[in-house]
Amino acid sequence: MDVKPGRLWVVATPIGNLDDLSPRAAEVLRTVATVAAEDTRHSTPLLARVGSRARTLALHEHNEREQAERIVALLREGQDVALVADAGTPLVSDPGFRLVRAAREAGIEVSPVPGPCAAIAALSVAGLPSDRFVFEGFLPAKSAARRERLQALAAETRTLIFHESSHRIADMLDDCVAVFGGARAAVVARELTKLFETVLSAPLGELAARVHADANQQRGEFVVLVGGADGADADVRLAEGRRVFALLRDELPPARAAKLAAAITGAPRKALYGEG
Ligand code: SAM
Repeated sequence: MDVKPGRLWVVATPIGNLDDLSPRAAEVLRTVATVAAEDTRHSTPLLARVGSRARTLALHEHNEREQAERIVALLREGQDVALVADAGTPLVSDPGFRLVRAAREAGIEVSPVPGPCAAIAALSVAGLPSDRFVFEGFLPAKSAARRERLQALAAETRTLIFHESSHRIADMLDDCVAVFGGARAAVVARELTKLFETVLSAPLGELAARVHADANQQRGEFVVLVGGADGADADVRLAEGRRVFALLRDELPPARAAKLAAAITGAPRKALYGEG
């Protein structure tokens, strides 16, 4: 007899305030046989709170490949499984992508139970343009690599969204000032939905100074948002021109590379490559 496969539920959980767990999320966590959790110890109190008696399986970045196979086998046997992260929406800077892909490839139905997501919560209160945005997750931990990544985003006109930790928030803001300039509009959203929630909004230079000056503003969890570059801005065109010139110079004589980079980006050719 053919067994009807189970469904994989991708369930968002609170990012601080436990009342943000939706009734539907609670119901799914109560009814599934198995919950795949990033850290089972972390998720146990939440499961207890909703009266879930589901078995828990750990699914984290180091075991996701093997666990995905195991979970897909359970789904094929007809079990429903819920995937949760420590906080927020699974797969957003969190494990789960391999499991979801494997389930889809196996023809398993995958359904979202939407809810909290720190990046979207921060965007919703930042007061920065929100029609188009770029989610960049965590930047590299080392400053040189971080600046290189930021440099690649210098001409981006959409609002930028980053995750950041308490160890690096001050240095990360310094790097943003160095690459984007101190005048860009930015927002630091800290401890959203928790007791010490703060949303600071100011030009980048001022924000960096405020975070440096107050140790409390370096505690907790952060989302940093930076307004997009003004596409018409001469500095932005020059930054983009330099980036494109550097790429083309590997393939073409410098004068030709500068001419093309200037035509593509609108940067002045002479500023890219002497008088050539
Ligand atoms: N999947 C999660 C989500 O949907 O929000 C994000 C997980 S990621 C591993 C954790 C990062 O999210 C933190 O380092 C911080 O940047 C951000 N974050 C999580 N909770 C937050 C909160 N309450 N306030 C501000 N940022 C938060």
